[in-house]
Amino acid sequence: MYRPSPTAGLAPANVEDQITGADSGPDGRSTDRTVVILGAGIAGLSAAYELERLGVPVEVLEGSRRIGGRVYTFRFGDSEDSPFAELGAMRIPAGHSNTLRYIAELGLTEELRSFHSLLADRNAFLRTDDSYVRLHDAASRLTTEIRDGLSHNGYRPETLMFGAWLTLVVDAIAPPDQRQDLRQDLRTRLLDSAERLNLMPFVRDGGTAFDLHGLFSAHPSLREGCHNPLRGFLDDILLETSTELFRLRGGMEQLARRLAWRVQGPIRRQHEVVGIESRPDEVLLHLRVGGRHVVRRCGEVLCTLPFSVLRELRLTGFSDDKMQIINDMQYVPATKVALHCREAFWRREGINGGASSSGGRVRQTYYSPTDGDPARGAVLLASYSVGEDAELLGRMSTATRYAAILADLASMHPQLLRPGMVLNAKSMVWGQFPWSRGGCSVQWGMDAAAAEEQRQLAQLPQGRLFFAGEHCSSRPAWIDGAIESALDAVSRMVLQMPIRVPELAT
Ligand SMILES: Cc1cc2nc3c(=O)[nH]c(=O)nc-3n(C[C@H](O)[C@H](O)[C@H](O)COP(=O)(O)OP(=O)(O)OC[C@H]3O[C@@H](n4cnc5c(N)ncnc54)[C@H](O)[C@@H]3O)c2cc1C
Repeated sequence: MYRPSPTAGLAPANVEDQITGADSGPDGRSTDRTVVILGAGIAGLSAAYELERLGVPVEVLEGSRRIGGRVYTFRFGDSEDSPFAELGAMRIPAGHSNTLRYIAELGLTEELRSFHSLLADRNAFLRTDDSYVRLHDAASRLTTEIRDGLSHNGYRPETLMFGAWLTLVVDAIAPPDQRQDLRQDLRTRLLDSAERLNLMPFVRDGGTAFDLHGLFSAHPSLREGCHNPLRGFLDDILLETSTELFRLRGGMEQLARRLAWRVQGPIRRQHEVVGIESRPDEVLLHLRVGGRHVVRRCGEVLCTLPFSVLRELRLTGFSDDKMQIINDMQYVPATKVALHCREAFWRREGINGGASSSGGRVRQTYYSPTDGDPARGAVLLASYSVGEDAELLGRMSTATRYAAILADLASMHPQLLRPGMVLNAKSMVWGQFPWSRGGCSVQWGMDAAAAEEQRQLAQLPQGRLFFAGEHCSSRPAWIDGAIESALDAVSRMVLQMPIRVPELAT
């Protein structure tokens, strides 16, 4: 894999023959109207698209060989209908209006399909301590477990059912410390709070399922019964297991590709940013291009690099506050392991989609839909984990990681061990990926005011250097946040531009 080079060895900024870029006027101030955008993920591409719509020329510099960043559809094969795994973003919540508006504008509405999450297919599995059960039997199993862990036995069945369902989704998705916190929260506060509410409207399927989304929407104060960081992650967990989710048939990467097609200005890949100097009237970019060090003088620059990457670069001219937020922003690791299987064997077991709560090192297993030719096989997103679980898998060699996932999953799905069943595998350890150095930014443990303060600081410009990316938004860790941040940054840039933007001038 191509890796970005270390930041050492930056050429001095005053080496004129290495400086390319903006023209300058008699006062030395740049007169080049081109906005240089760093990063061709969704934030960078959205900003390029929006700026050009306002008549502002753009140039996008992307360090890696691909565009899309953390939207990454990996195909097992060369053909467009080869089975694929979503190694990054895979679902779009129905309330994510920025993302859905882009999907409509980019002509992708017809590709929207329902995304079947955990709990969608009740034939999928829940791993228990000693075995596994189908999700339709999970409630009784988990209810018994919760009752056994309590000092008294007086809760109503629906209260225990609430505890069981919350345990199911938190166990599947959250990292280990949050799973433990939940058990304590249930004993100390949550079950007592729930016991005081009328829960019957949220009991589903004759008492074998529970509508957590409905309950937390109707009684938001119930969240207070959870300790942080679980409280901070709870909304995402509920969203991820919602029934109102979409995916893009043919792969999420279409969103990035369609955006890139709309952008007229150049999108230059393998242009790695290794340093940024923010000066009062210009921005100097230090780039590594084709093994050469290039210094580029720019007028306006929009940086969409994750702060987890930015803090490894040489940065000068940044305020102390800005440096602090760049250094302190919390990123959670995420790891996915996908298996290319000869066939969608899980269908024979009555599983038509959705996900299993697989426990152990695997955590979540998604039964991906087959959009292409079934003769080319099917993809099992065998493992999706975050936090320490993701780090644990990330530390293993690739071969050991596949062996570990296969060993853990085979007790639930012995078909995986049949000769010729697994044709190929691909994993993505976002915490170690040089172009992200983390899964996503998170605001766990922060109250709303602290999260907003962080957002303001993250997007605070430094002279003519502006910032966007999911980490600069009110919806971190979602595509919708990346687009929101791009729209915000474009508005701010346009307001400060020395040259009038044609459309705004009319
Ligand atoms: C495992 C996982 C699952 C997710 N699931 C979902 C989901 O289901 N739904 C959803 O909406 N969101 C999901 N997300 C979040 C979503 O993918 C991100 O919020 C969004 O894609 C971030 O976009 P961005 O443009 O801010 O950052 P990025 O996509 O990271 O873009 C930054 C770009 O900068 C480039 N770059 C980095 N370093 C340099 C450098 N030194 N020089 C030049 N270029 C550089 C990168 O290569 C990249 O292209 C998920 C993320 C992960 C990791």
